[in-house]
Amino acid sequence: MISNNLLVKILLPLPFNDGFIYFVKKNQNPKIGDIFQIPFGKRKIFGVITEILDKIPENIAESKIKFAESKYPNFSLDRKLIDFIFWVANYNLAPAGLVLKLSIAVFLKNLAKKSTEIIFKINENYDFSQKITEKRQKILDFINDSSKTLADIKKNEDFTISLINQMVKDDILIKEKKEVDRKIIKITENIDKNSFKLKNLSQKQQEISDQLPLENFQVSFLDGVTGSGKTEIYFHLIAKILEQKSGQILFLLPEIVLTTQLIRNFKDRFGFEPEIWHSKIGNSKKERIFHSIISENIRILIGTRSALFLPFKNLKTIIIDEEHDESFKQEDQISYHGRDMAIVRAKMENIPILLGSATPSLETYQNSISGKYGHFILTEKFSRNDAVKIEILDLKQEKLEKNHFLSQKLLDQIALNLLDQKQSLLFLNKRGYANVTICKKCGDIINCPNCSINITYHQKINKLICHHCGHRDFIPKKCQKCGEKDSFLLSGIGIEKIKEEIQEKFPKARIALMTSDEIKDLDIANKIIDKILNDQIDIIIGTQMIAKGYHFPKLSLVGIIDGDASFYNNSLRTSEKSYQLLTQIIGRAGREKYQGQVLIQSFNPKNPIFEYIIKQDRNRFLEQEIAQRKLLNLPPFGKMAEIIVNDFDQKIAIETLRNILKNSIFDKNIQILGPAPMPVTKIKNRFYYRLIINSSRNFNLQNYIRKITNNLKLKNSTRMKIVID
Ligand SMILES: [Zn+2]
Ligand SMILES: [Zn+2]
Repeated sequence: MISNNLLVKILLPLPFNDGFIYFVKKNQNPKIGDIFQIPFGKRKIFGVITEILDKIPENIAESKIKFAESKYPNFSLDRKLIDFIFWVANYNLAPAGLVLKLSIAVFLKNLAKKSTEIIFKINENYDFSQKITEKRQKILDFINDSSKTLADIKKNEDFTISLINQMVKDDILIKEKKEVDRKIIKITENIDKNSFKLKNLSQKQQEISDQLPLENFQVSFLDGVTGSGKTEIYFHLIAKILEQKSGQILFLLPEIVLTTQLIRNFKDRFGFEPEIWHSKIGNSKKERIFHSIISENIRILIGTRSALFLPFKNLKTIIIDEEHDESFKQEDQISYHGRDMAIVRAKMENIPILLGSATPSLETYQNSISGKYGHFILTEKFSRNDAVKIEILDLKQEKLEKNHFLSQKLLDQIALNLLDQKQSLLFLNKRGYANVTICKKCGDIINCPNCSINITYHQKINKLICHHCGHRDFIPKKCQKCGEKDSFLLSGIGIEKIKEEIQEKFPKARIALMTSDEIKDLDIANKIIDKILNDQIDIIIGTQMIAKGYHFPKLSLVGIIDGDASFYNNSLRTSEKSYQLLTQIIGRAGREKYQGQVLIQSFNPKNPIFEYIIKQDRNRFLEQEIAQRKLLNLPPFGKMAEIIVNDFDQKIAIETLRNILKNSIFDKNIQILGPAPMPVTKIKNRFYYRLIINSSRNFNLQNYIRKITNNLKLKNSTRMKIVID
């Protein structure tokens, strides 16, 4: 049986760890990476050959092995990409089939769609002895003995659709639907090396640019505050590759909103607009990009983390801007860290990768000072210490008006800025108007019916919204607990309330509200950014989305409404993330000629992190964090993983984790904590519990977790997720 056929393993885009065994006819010339349609149960699906076997495994009967059917002709996956898929799956304890799906989902989705076209041909059985008009004869001559599509016929001005249809009615012509190969439309970039207009680099930038490797695997970290000129170094690197005959570049960003200014600058320097990849672009666009990546028609792609899995054929470098950003972390379905996986892909492709940040992740910083990564420091012309004055405002010392959140000093400074025609930015990371809706009679707080968290009132749409599950509701007419009518008070803080307070204090100020509720796409973002740049805005009020990347020359004052907010969440990276967020917001102030000023409101002004913030002493902050992690054996010095289980039944969730604990083998390298509830325990009526597992650096934590979860029988309602940190 084997002689005329090859035995192969085919990985399917389904939640399986390994491929299934099939026969393929030798004359189909199968090789690793080829895509075949195969029968799977009652379905026919596409999968990728990952292995060619020399004999049938002992536990499988030859008669059970089916034949793969047709081979997809237009492309196959590279061996390196297949290795990468298995590596990602193995490291993150995710089914390899689902990682494959990340890579080729667009392709699969559109493959299912068959394209048809209408054709016309001559009816051979028609009695042609009858007289035929001249016009009709012309059409018959045109079609002749082939078949023609409607489009073909339309090209000839003498032929009308109505005549054609009449000929079909008269049985002279036959109209048929025919399945055709879908045409793959590709994108071609308009690259003209001669019209590149790169900015001249400063001496320091040039030094770094000259040292950045162009080949072989090497991680480099470009360390520089925002505005220090990292982007121009990226552009020079991109130009060096585009000037070569071939070679592709992947530029990853945490969020696509950040591309707005980047793309403007890119177009300016290179004369064409780069293609963008993120989850919200339409499927047909995705498909065009997908095939243009394979054909190398696209040489530079800017994208969010999912772009990492695209089948680049000739990748020459990866650039990751804002490498510390949490958005690189994917947490649904398969959890993985986009930055870490990008480093792995670069290693497998044997190409250099460049990380950039002003506030590096602790891992990147540690690897840079230890010499594992190339460390390139961009110093500024002037020191930000002098450029930005940072002050903590002690809210305990000041009695704020009821339901008001802005201290007098901050208000005074905004007033001054308005007079001077400078822009101000107020930052609060809370969407909506009021995050607490409380009954003034009995004190009951309205929670989301599906989640264990209070629901936030949004004034613009006059509704309560749960920020965890999206549940929407009107404010109840009467309190469910005590029955009092119209008893609800909108309490607590929210960004819409800050806007209201500003409007009340400065009725003439022109305000831009930048939140994910207001800014739903890039067009809206672009419009607001234009307004800010054109001096049509005085005060910007925004959530996290405003913290990153923007460059507003006239912005001099930053007010942080709740400087303590980010410290409530108690996790491994709380202070690291808080430091990064605060530093980024501070980085918006005084970026050009104006002196920057930052006022941070806090109920806990003695928090040691503020000392590092005021002095802008990033390295000392990171070093004391590193010392702490080292002491506690936490990443990057030890390993950490979470096993998170959820179920509609709280008891089952806890019980599942207890069973895992029972299975766990004692090992002195391992420490397991839990089961403990997740910070938000109930989301969409499911209860979330976790185990936290710590191990030493050189311990194979993935293997250990695989062992203790392998024979676990999950109830149908139970879901389990493993996060490797
Ligand atoms: Zn009540
Ligand atoms: Zn909810």
